[in-house]
Amino acid sequence: MARDRNGYGWERPAVRAALTAAEGNARDVAALARQICEIPAPTFQEERRAAFVVEQFEAGGLDAVGDAAGNVTARRAGQERGDAVLLAAHTDTVFPIDTDVRVRESAGKLHGPGIGDNSLAVAALVTLPRLLDRAGLRTKRDLILCANTGEEGLGDLRGIKQAVADHRDDLGAVIALEGLNLGRVTHQAVGSRRLRITVEGPGGHSWGAFGNGSAIHVLGAIIGAIANLTVPRDPKTTYNVGMIEGGVSVNTIAPRASLILDLRSIDPAALETLVGQVDAIVRDAAGGEITTKSEVIGDRPAGRLANDAPLLRATIAALREIGLEPTLDASSTDANVPLALGIPAVCIGLTRGGHAHRLDEYIETAPIGRGMQQLILLVAATAGLVERGQ
Ligand SMILES: [Zn+2]
Repeated sequence: MARDRNGYGWERPAVRAALTAAEGNARDVAALARQICEIPAPTFQEERRAAFVVEQFEAGGLDAVGDAAGNVTARRAGQERGDAVLLAAHTDTVFPIDTDVRVRESAGKLHGPGIGDNSLAVAALVTLPRLLDRAGLRTKRDLILCANTGEEGLGDLRGIKQAVADHRDDLGAVIALEGLNLGRVTHQAVGSRRLRITVEGPGGHSWGAFGNGSAIHVLGAIIGAIANLTVPRDPKTTYNVGMIEGGVSVNTIAPRASLILDLRSIDPAALETLVGQVDAIVRDAAGGEITTKSEVIGDRPAGRLANDAPLLRATIAALREIGLEPTLDASSTDANVPLALGIPAVCIGLTRGGHAHRLDEYIETAPIGRGMQQLILLVAATAGLVERGQ
């Protein structure tokens, strides 16, 4: 056997064979991504796409199981128990159910809403075990392959939250897959808290009942106080009042008004500090006949993988092995949930493309082979790859 430069086993002939197979198989992955994209799957309506994934896992000889969150999970047993590697690809899209999701092909590209985010990653997830089978490879640790729900918008990461909770006892690492941004490694999870803040008061005629507390006036004061908050630049921490509503008519003292607020930080403590400041503003605004309340409508936890974490080193090495220089990134992905719990996690991409969350979204097909190679290398480094019979 060739020397093993980094202890990941990448030089083993069977691993090299799997890498060659990944390149040769890229067209099939693209074709599968196309099929997946053409099954509508808005957040909370992922069932049809999930059913397709069940068929795909079963065709590959794996048992697929569902769960309360609508995830589809297949476990590919390794040689040893414990420290399993969870690979997760979200099935949901931001596009409403009646969106035209037909995929169009042009020179080297596939175009379709959700083709990159995240049909390609789901295709990669179901293809990986087949490539390993064909190369006669098994893992040392179990692979848990999860096509999860609820990554986008108000899904609030419900799929990955369920998957991580279900497997928490034996998870060694989580690798979240995204179709776009090959070369990007998300190792910092931007946490967010979304709040609906509601103010209620007695209402009344604007002339006759002048002096009654106005829900809109109080909400305005709350917004002013939020806009005056000082937040750290490092760790980056932000707030945004994204929507407001309320009132009845121009000559009615508003009995009710509300806003939706988005708070974010890469640092869990900074996020909690900001949430506490907002809660104090909302509490202090109540009084007399005015009541205020704050409801959490979204909660994505923050966290980060240390720069010297073995998973991050392996991810960087895998990208360099396929000739790409990694870009480290902070964003909100399925990796948020394990990172917040202290479970090593990254989110990686599989090809180049663009216009995510737009109807003219596209992927380039040529880099898919390298994206799959990256995945095999990363599985070798985290779960271990060994020839069957060894
Ligand atoms: Zn995505």
